[in-house]
Amino acid sequence: MNTKKIWLSSPHLGGSEQKFVQEAFDTNWIAPLGSNVDGFEMDLESYLEKEIHVAALSSGTAAIHLGLILLGVTKNDEVLVQTHTHNATVNPIIYQGATPIFIDSEIETGNICPVYLEKAILHRIAVSKKPKAIIAVHLYGMPYKIEEIRAIANKYEIPILEDSAEALGSTFKGQKCGTFGDFGVLSFNGNKIITTSGGGALVANSKKLKEKAIFYATQARDQAPHYQHSEIGYNYRMSNICAGIGRGQMEVLDNHVALRIKMHNFYENLFKEINGVTVFKTPNSDYFSNYWLTTILIDPILTDGINRETLRLALDAENIESRPLWKPMHLQPVFEEYPYYGATVAEMLFENGLCLPSGSNLTENECERIAKVVKSTFK
Ligand SMILES: *Cc1c(COP(=O)(O)O)cnc(C)c1O
Repeated sequence: MNTKKIWLSSPHLGGSEQKFVQEAFDTNWIAPLGSNVDGFEMDLESYLEKEIHVAALSSGTAAIHLGLILLGVTKNDEVLVQTHTHNATVNPIIYQGATPIFIDSEIETGNICPVYLEKAILHRIAVSKKPKAIIAVHLYGMPYKIEEIRAIANKYEIPILEDSAEALGSTFKGQKCGTFGDFGVLSFNGNKIITTSGGGALVANSKKLKEKAIFYATQARDQAPHYQHSEIGYNYRMSNICAGIGRGQMEVLDNHVALRIKMHNFYENLFKEINGVTVFKTPNSDYFSNYWLTTILIDPILTDGINRETLRLALDAENIESRPLWKPMHLQPVFEEYPYYGATVAEMLFENGLCLPSGSNLTENECERIAKVVKSTFK
């Protein structure tokens, strides 16, 4: 096969990244601190448009871990988390020796279901204890039910860790995702809407909490001329080289969002006439998705048996990457021992859902290749 591989989502550079990286070399700031780290944090703070404070870290996973630590999650605590997600949302709960309590999705946004969330809280309080935190995720850029989840969190006084790893640029009622939680998490992994080659950030509500995050991210050093420690620390700070890439990427973030939405529109058009295929979209105009990935649901009863695997394999045969939606965490061998509250929405999303190539750098020719496979699969 000599056609170029079409990826789900690949890095898309803007042009200024090398300038910022070069600056780091020129000034010899090849370290996990320096002007790019400070500059990238400031760029993010002004982008998010709220009174928030951002700590740049080595990954989104590190940000989730530090968020849990700052929320006081520790051994034997319980943390409520949506089951339909990336395993990186859940692993840090285990790092802390805590227990994940998995919650099903609702069908409108595909994210944490408020009904099962509240049921789970009441049941945990009855049989065990009050959970220490809620992790809600904006999957594929789609905001979760912000108001419903916040109302439950407030009612039971449980803080929210907002996993916005996939949703930089998304908004709800005009407010940027990443700023709704007691802490927010961003990721700049290679496949995200912008990348630093690898990196993440923790969004905090105060300067003090940001500083505390940086303290833990830099080995938890007490004030002293020598290395003095009263707490366990981590090596989680972002490198000044990576932050340079991030500063360049911030210049093109809005454009990347526009291009991802263009890909979403391309798919809406493509599947318009195809019975049994639904392009997943925002429930109403309060929601604005960056459409990091466009996802579809295929109902094989309405498509004469064509299912998500039929399409995935047909795309794969043409060197085009697509991927089932996240397999629910409560069905993963590594997590199957933990409690689950819900029905089968997340399972259905996994069984029938497919993520389609959605990169901001896809060419017209590549879109035509995708369209050709879709049309011949559903002819
Ligand atoms: C990518 C991702 C993460 C982890 O971010 P990394 O930077 O890859 O560690 C966490 N949660 C979700 C939902 C993600 O998509």
